[in-house]
This record gives sequence, C-alpha cells and structure tokens, in this order.
Amino acid sequence: MTQATPANTYRNWSGNLQFSPQHIAKPDSIEAMVDIVQQARKQGRKVRMVGTAHSWMPLIETNDVLVSLDNWQGVESVDKNNMVATVRAGTKLHRLGEELFAQGVALANMGDIAEQSIAGAFFTGTHGTGAELGILATQLVGVTLINGLGDVITWHEDEHPDMMNAVRVSLGALGMVAMMQVRVMPAYKLHEKQVRLPMRDAHRQRGDFYKTEHRHAEFFWFPHSQDVVFKTLNLSEDDIKPPRTFDLILENRVVNIIMALGARFPAWGARLNKTMMGFVDKESMGTVNHAHQIFPTQRRLRFNEMEYNVPAEQWQACFDDLRDLYHSKGFGVNFPIEGRWVQGDAIWLSPAYGRDSAYFAVHQVAGYPYKDAFAQIEAIFRRYGGRPHWGKLNTMTRAEAHAHYARLTDFIGLREESDPQHIFGNAYLDGMLV
Ligand SMILES: Cc1cc2nc3c(=O)[nH]c(=O)nc-3n(C[C@H](O)[C@H](O)[C@H](O)COP(=O)(O)OP(=O)(O)OC[C@H]3O[C@@H](n4cnc5c(N)ncnc54)[C@H](O)[C@@H]3O)c2cc1C
Repeated sequence: MTQATPANTYRNWSGNLQFSPQHIAKPDSIEAMVDIVQQARKQGRKVRMVGTAHSWMPLIETNDVLVSLDNWQGVESVDKNNMVATVRAGTKLHRLGEELFAQGVALANMGDIAEQSIAGAFFTGTHGTGAELGILATQLVGVTLINGLGDVITWHEDEHPDMMNAVRVSLGALGMVAMMQVRVMPAYKLHEKQVRLPMRDAHRQRGDFYKTEHRHAEFFWFPHSQDVVFKTLNLSEDDIKPPRTFDLILENRVVNIIMALGARFPAWGARLNKTMMGFVDKESMGTVNHAHQIFPTQRRLRFNEMEYNVPAEQWQACFDDLRDLYHSKGFGVNFPIEGRWVQGDAIWLSPAYGRDSAYFAVHQVAGYPYKDAFAQIEAIFRRYGGRPHWGKLNTMTRAEAHAHYARLTDFIGLREESDPQHIFGNAYLDGMLV
C-alpha cells in the first residue's frame, strides 16, 4: 500500500526532495526578515531560504521554518554611472530580465532557464556558457543580508572583497540575503545559431575553436548518435528574428517525447536518438533576440541532473570517457549530455575557483532510475578533478570539498562569525561545513 503524502509536503522541481516544513514564511520587508531571524534565535529554531526549489541537492530542506522571498521581488534602482542594479533577492530571473531591459540594461550572461530566483541561482554557482564569462555570481558586487544574530549587514566588493568572494556562492549558509547589487551592461541582442557536426570534428578540431570564437558556445550530444549539436550566441545589431515554428516544436515537444520514450524503453535509446538527429538541420537558419529573451529555454520535461566542472583543458578527454561509458553495454541513460565553458574566478566555493573550466551536465527523466548510472559517471568526473555544481545531484564528501576548495576553512570561519548558532543550517550544510 502506498503511504499518503502529508498535506504540508514541500517538493522541489524534479520531485527528488520532499520534506515538511513546520512553517513557510513569505516576508515582504527587511524588517519582517529580521523578525523571522530574531524569533528563530529566541525559540531555538532553524531557518532555510528557498528560491524556486530548482536545486536537486537538499539545500532548502528543513522541517522547521522555510522562508520564501516571493513577496520580495523587483529591481529597486539602476545606477547607470556605475552600471550596477540593486535587486530584491527574491526576484525571479525572468522578471529581472524584463525589468532591467525596461531600463536599457542587461546581465552579461544567463543560464538555460530563467525560473530561478536571483539569490537561489547566484548562491549555488549557477552558470551559463562563455569561455570569457564567469559564473553568474561573478556579477554580484554587493549584498545586504540578515545574519544569524539578526543584524542587517551590508558588504560591497570595494570594502569587503573577502566577504564578497565568500557570499557569492554561499548556499544560504551565511545569512538571509535581502538585497543584491549586480553589475549590468547596456541591453544587447544576440544571434543564435546551431550546427550539427560529426563528433570527430566537433571534438578534435572544432570544439576549442567554437569555445573561443563565439561569445557563448555549448554543445549537446544525444547518446549513440554520431553527431554533436553546437549552439552559439554572438552579439548582434540585426532585427529581431524569431525561431521557426518547426524548431520550437522540435525543441519543446519532439525532444521531450523522444527523451520520455528513451527512459521508458532504454533499449530503444540508440535508435530514438539517431532518429532525433535526423530532424536537426546541419546548420540552423539562426534567430536574433534581446539577450534576456534568447538565453532561457522552456524545460517542460522534468528530469534529475548532475553537473560537474572539470579543468577546461581536459574537456575533450573527459568527454571521450563519458561517451565510451554511454556506449557501454547496458548503460541505460539516453538523455543528452550538455557541455559548456566558463572563465575561472576567485569565489571561494565556486566550482570554477582558480581555473578556466568546462562543465558537463548529465540527466535522466524524473521518475526513472539514475543512481547507478550517475555513480559511474561521477567516477569519471572524479578522475578529472571534477567539482560538482552545488545545486545538482552529487555525492561529494566533506573531505573532497576541503581538497577542492582551499578557502573552505575560511568560509566555515566566516559562517561561525555570521551564524554562530547555525540557525541557517540543515543536515546537509552542517555535515559539509565543518
Ligand atoms: C530546469 C533547470 C535548469 C537549470 N539550468 C541551469 C543552468 O543553465 N546553469 C546552472 O548552473 N544551473 C542550472 N540549474 C540549477 C539551478 O540554477 C540552481 O539549482 C539554482 O540554485 C536554483 O535556483 P532557485 O531559485 O530554485 O534556488 P533554490 O534551489 O530554491 O535554492 C538554492 C540555494 O539558494 C539559497 N537561497 C535562496 N534564496 C536565498 C536568500 N534570499 N538568501 C540566502 N540564500 C538563499 C537556498 O537556501 C539554497 O541553498 C537548473 C535547474 C533546473 C531545474
């Protein structure tokens, strides 16, 4: 008999996390946020923040107080002299994009979707692609947060460079962030193109060319197919050119059907993916749109995902190993692998800390087995010194985290100062941050 789910069960996007917060708070002012922390201090309660629950790791999990800043959204101001926007931390990225655009500015880069809150996206190290562009949090120049003592603290990169490199990727462990100051640039348009290349060429000759010759380049490989699809985005002054209806149907419907069938009938995966490739043009007609509209795509099919960062110069070797694993007998995951690049940075807990990086993301349709396959894939990432995306599925241990992040001990020290009672803790964070 299946057990009934309690009425107050909270689920994340893919459904792999389910928990029951005692109370969900939706403050609409900084005073209300301070009050939540003060009450928690007095009552010895724990507080976790949630954006849009798009992370797979148990970062938002709590059986105590869950705080959503859904009622605390919007761009407060744009300082065009310094090109810095001040944004409420609960603002969803799609709303942020629209409000910035209305003021003639934009973020320099974004990821695949725009459903996340700006806080949730930045604080897990969310990234897009672009060999000369950092993860999203590199754009953060200042924050206002409520620490575990209930104090309202303001940090800015000019006065507090270390604090900023700690908070940029901080998993909600240093406090409840209320305001974020973000570097912006004049609004711009991007030209998107896709090319289908034989894997040989794509990976031996063209990959490095693509990643350096385009502002943004990423690739998708449908397991078992002989081709790789490269997607590039470059600055453009051209008129808006929407995608063809056929491409939209392909991306939003046909791919989803093929992926769902491949998960249901793993043995059909090779044939399905090769059929899928037959629909993809050798070279797309190309589309042009404003940056905030062209970066995000629709992700209607729910999936579980793991993503690792490896040193940029190792991307080809790492990909070859992944491809061999996917081709090995009985390996039943058929969902495409996505490859991207980002510039290295100095953020203490950024997977791109100190190294230009490549990212590989692997997926399985939600509801289908993934753990064995992901464990085998993770073993490959580990061989390449891989560091996981903090928001996506991984089994990184505390010892591994210390080996990867030279400043983790400093981060833990700052957490002790900021939140000595670990009000903002949960089982996962308390296990990692010691
Ligand atoms: C379909 C899909 C596509 C994705 N695409 C990409 C991609 O292209 N690139 C990429 O890198 N990642 C991607 N991700 C991962 C995603 O960007 C991250 O998991 C991100 O953290 C989710 O944002 P969120 O608002 O849902 O945050 P949540 O998952 O709700 O929270 C993430 C963390 O932020 C903390 N937090 C939230 N608000 C606050 C606050 N106000 N103060 C302090 N801490 C706070 C939470 O406590 C938690 O630790 C994708 C995820 C999905 C489901």
